[in-house]
Amino acid sequence: MKFDFIVIGAGSAGCAVAAGLAKARIGSVCVLEAGPTDAVPQVKIPFGLLHTMGSKRDWNFKSTSQSNANNRVFNVNRGYMVGGSSSINSMVWFRGRADDFDNWQQPGWRWNDVERDFIEIEKLIQPQQIPTPHPLSVAFAKSFLANSDAPPTPDRESAGLFDTNSRNGRRWSAADAFLRPAMRSHGLQIITGANVNRISFEEGRARHVELVDGRTLSARCGIVLSAGSIGSPSILMRSGIGPAAQLSELGISIKVDSPQVGQNLSDHPVIGVHHEGRNSGYGLVWNQSLQWALSPFQWLTQRNGRLTSNFVEAGAFFRVNPITDDDDRPECQVHFIPYMMGFKGKSITTGSGYFADVGVCRPVSRGSLTLSSSDPRVAPNIDLGVLKEEQDVQILIGGFRRLRELLDKAPMGDSRAPEVYPGAAVSSDDEITEHIRARSGTAYHPVGTLAMGEQGTPVTNTLQLRDVDGLWVADASVMPSITSANTNAPSMMIGHRAAKLILREVKY
Ligand SMILES: Cc1cc2nc3c(=O)[nH]c(=O)nc-3n(C[C@H](O)[C@H](O)[C@H](O)COP(=O)(O)OP(=O)(O)OC[C@H]3O[C@@H](n4cnc5c(N)ncnc54)[C@H](O)[C@@H]3O)c2cc1C
Repeated sequence: MKFDFIVIGAGSAGCAVAAGLAKARIGSVCVLEAGPTDAVPQVKIPFGLLHTMGSKRDWNFKSTSQSNANNRVFNVNRGYMVGGSSSINSMVWFRGRADDFDNWQQPGWRWNDVERDFIEIEKLIQPQQIPTPHPLSVAFAKSFLANSDAPPTPDRESAGLFDTNSRNGRRWSAADAFLRPAMRSHGLQIITGANVNRISFEEGRARHVELVDGRTLSARCGIVLSAGSIGSPSILMRSGIGPAAQLSELGISIKVDSPQVGQNLSDHPVIGVHHEGRNSGYGLVWNQSLQWALSPFQWLTQRNGRLTSNFVEAGAFFRVNPITDDDDRPECQVHFIPYMMGFKGKSITTGSGYFADVGVCRPVSRGSLTLSSSDPRVAPNIDLGVLKEEQDVQILIGGFRRLRELLDKAPMGDSRAPEVYPGAAVSSDDEITEHIRARSGTAYHPVGTLAMGEQGTPVTNTLQLRDVDGLWVADASVMPSITSANTNAPSMMIGHRAAKLILREVKY
């Protein structure tokens, strides 16, 4: 099987880059996706994410034990299907701050360069609020300004209902926005169940893609790696591009010694607070059985109701440290979920209530990803580096306190419910720190494992792999540092922009 371009991974960025290449009509483009299709109701129905997380459409990775979080192992969920993590995520839509991109300090990636790409992808995504937000989310959205209908923004302290990549009450993933239109109009092809083992080379040029099942595909013009922050560095290392000493130990022959491959892993750490009470948020309780029973009909006939909820319906941004002359950026993001989340083991539980978490917008802790085996069926070691730096812990402590204040202040009326976990007894800095180490998670936003940058970084600012021809990376792994809010829109932007960069450079 021979194509002009092969894109590895049909996720947020992969769908965008593949569509951009196909649209240029310069040859055949094929996307290889390890997982199955996304053609199941639980992916299309926003509330279905409760079912897809942890299912066979999730890679279900685990982190290494995190020494600054009581040696806990964290779930590292990633979409394993067409659409990638945009088919499993909460659909919250944020570009990030302009200075997130400026601070990457990469020519071609400053805000002035990427703003146009965001505008172009948003024409296809049309971010919008969900049709029927829960009244509790509407109440939380008024935490800062009672009369504002605007979504919150990482540009300033604010609260609001989130914009989402949903349309007409259903998920609108990267596959909906980019992949399928390009399949219909521009002959883009996709092969599902195509789990890539490694890339192989001919005369210094990336030429072939070897699948785990033994098939090999070839690319005449180029190969684009869009397997995400976990998948892309893993494939590269299996292909012999990475830290030479580590790869040699695993018996992998070295193509390029690139010590930074897999380093610089960053994610947003979060800590939550649970509220439970009768007549509060969504939950598994008898007095909501009629609404639950009617909800599928509502979704099918009117595309509204509780099944259109993306869970994370509202949120906020705020500071915890005093504003200084050169820094007034919000340091924390809140996700508000008007749904009872369990806190005694299982996240789905009986009872009604609500949950909110607060995360660090720009964490300074860094982790890393290494291979544990040359066998592609063995998961890599994912060290999230959670809370490695004290600065992140301090911001979370301040953020946790301010989150409680916001929840107290929000005009929730009779639906207000008491905090049940961790509860009022956890109030001193030491107690909150203990809670953070015992219960924090991440927002499922790993980025940065193939950061673009100057000499020494794995990828150039035109997204080319250093010291190899015909190989590009286009996904969240190329971010030099994490953006201040959720990472799906920036990942799509990277894919969309990558197609333009590749078309500028490739010989065909
Ligand atoms: C549970 C969850 C909730 C989230 N919520 C939000 C949110 O509300 N808002 C937001 O902005 N962000 C959210 N995110 C993060 C966001 O979805 C990601 O940052 C974004 O999708 C990353 O895009 P990507 O293209 O880098 O990777 P992905 O979208 O993960 O795509 C990678 C693709 O490559 C495929 N792949 C991997 N390895 C191989 C291989 N060996 N062979 C072939 N194919 C392979 C994968 O199956 C996948 O389809 C969430 C993520 C998760 C998991």
